[in-house]
Amino acid sequence: MKTKKIFLSEKEMPTQWYNIQADMPGEMLPPLHPATKQPLGPDDLAPLFPMELIKQEVSKERYIDIPEEVQDIYKIWRPSPLVRAYNFEKLLDAPVKIYYKNESVSPAGSHKPNTAVPQAYYNYKEGVKKLTTETGAGQWGSALSFAAEYFGIELQVFMVKVSFLQKPYRQFMMNTWGAKVVPSPSTLTESGRKILDEDPDSPGSLGIAISEAVEMAAKDENTKYSLGSVLNHVLMHQTIIGEEALRQFEKTDDYPDIVIGCFGGGSNFAGISFPFLRKKITENKNTRVIAVEPESCPKLTRGKFQYDFGDTVGLTPLLAMYTLGHQFVPPKIHAGGLRYHGAGPIISELLKDKLIEASAVHQLESFDAGVKFARSEGIIPAPETTHAIAQVVREAKKAKEEGVQKTIVFNFSGHGLVDLAAYDQYLSGKLHDYSISQEEIEKSINSSKVL
Ligand SMILES: *Cc1c(COP(=O)(O)O)cnc(C)c1O
Repeated sequence: MKTKKIFLSEKEMPTQWYNIQADMPGEMLPPLHPATKQPLGPDDLAPLFPMELIKQEVSKERYIDIPEEVQDIYKIWRPSPLVRAYNFEKLLDAPVKIYYKNESVSPAGSHKPNTAVPQAYYNYKEGVKKLTTETGAGQWGSALSFAAEYFGIELQVFMVKVSFLQKPYRQFMMNTWGAKVVPSPSTLTESGRKILDEDPDSPGSLGIAISEAVEMAAKDENTKYSLGSVLNHVLMHQTIIGEEALRQFEKTDDYPDIVIGCFGGGSNFAGISFPFLRKKITENKNTRVIAVEPESCPKLTRGKFQYDFGDTVGLTPLLAMYTLGHQFVPPKIHAGGLRYHGAGPIISELLKDKLIEASAVHQLESFDAGVKFARSEGIIPAPETTHAIAQVVREAKKAKEEGVQKTIVFNFSGHGLVDLAAYDQYLSGKLHDYSISQEEIEKSINSSKVL
C-alpha cells in the first residue's frame, strides 16, 4: 500500500519554534535607526512591537517555547499533512519523489496564520487594543484578521491597490473576521497622500502599504504594527512547518535532497527550510535549499546586498538585505504576495554565505506548473505557490537528464481559491511575462541608496 499522506497526531505537534540565529555561521549586520543610522536598541522598536516580539527578534536561543494558548489555536489546522504527490510525479515522468507540506489547510488558506496567531497573542498579552498592517494579495491581511479577532484586537489593513481591485474576495474575508480594509495608497496617512500626489494612479506596493501601516501605528500609543514576513521573529514562527516536516519524514524511509519554497519576504521559505538547514549546518546533511522568486521582482537573483528601508517612504529601520531598492514598484503580477522589494535579513545572510540558493521564474512558467499540479493532485495552488512548483518541475527535468534519483519537498504555501480570476486570465491567454532590464534594476537600486 502506498502512503499518500503522512500525519502527525495533535500530541506530536512541535511545542517549540526553531531560531536559526543560534546556528548561523555568518555574523548578521544589525538593523539601523532610520534617522540616526546607528544600530537600533530595543526601545526604538517599542512604539511598533510588543516587547516579547522584540526579544524574539534579537534572540540567540536555539528553541523558543510556543505558548499554550497559541498551540491551542494552531490545533484548529495543525499539524498539517505532508503529502506524497504520486500523480504529479507520474505526470512529470522523472526519477523524483515529490512531497509537499500542505499549509493551505489553515482557516485563511495559507501559512500566514502560523505567525499571525502568536503576533496577535503577544500584543493581546501586553494590552494592545489596535493593530495596523499591510497586505499584498490579502493572504496576510486575512490571516491577521482571523488572529486579531480571536484576541479581541481591532485591525486596520492597508491593502495594495492592484490586489484590492484584482481580489475583492480577500477583502470580504477580512471584513467577515471583523477587520477594516482600505486600498493603499490611501488618504488616511501622510505617506499615502504623498504617493497619491506624485502618482494618482499608483497601483500600490507592499512597500507603500507598510509605510502607511507603520505611520498609523507610530502616531497612536494604543496602536501597534504587525508585519507578515521579512523580520526574524516572523520567520521563526513559521518554523513549525519544517519542524513538523522533519518529524513526518522520520515516519518514511525518505529524507529530502532538495527543499523548495516560493519567496516574497521569506517567511514560508524559512518555515519549511530552516529546520532542514539546521541539519545541514550541524549534521552536515547534504541538502540543497532553494528560494524561488518571480522574474518580475528578482531581489535574490538580481538585487544587491545593502542596507535599505523595509518600506517605500523610509519610516522603517534600515535592514541589511538583498534589495531592488525601496522605491521599486514591481509589475502587476498575480502573485501579489511576492511583490516585495527586499528579502528578510536572515535569508539574505544565508544566501550571501551560500547556504541556500535562489532562482527566478516567469509568471507563465509558474502558472503552467500550477495548472499541471491542479490537474494531477487536485488542489489549486495560490499564484505565489506556483513558483515553488515551477522549480520542482525544473528539478525533475534535471534529475531526468542526469539520470539520478532525487527526493524533493516543497512548501504548499497556500491554495488559490480566492485567486481564480488569475487562473481565468491565464487559461484564456491574457497573462504575459514581465522582463525587467538590468538598467532598470540598477537605476532603482542606485536611486534608493541610503548609506
Ligand atoms: C504571502 C505569501 C507568500 C509569500 O510570502 P513569504 O513571506 O515569502 O512566505 C507565499 N505564498 C503564499 C500563499 C502567501 O500568502
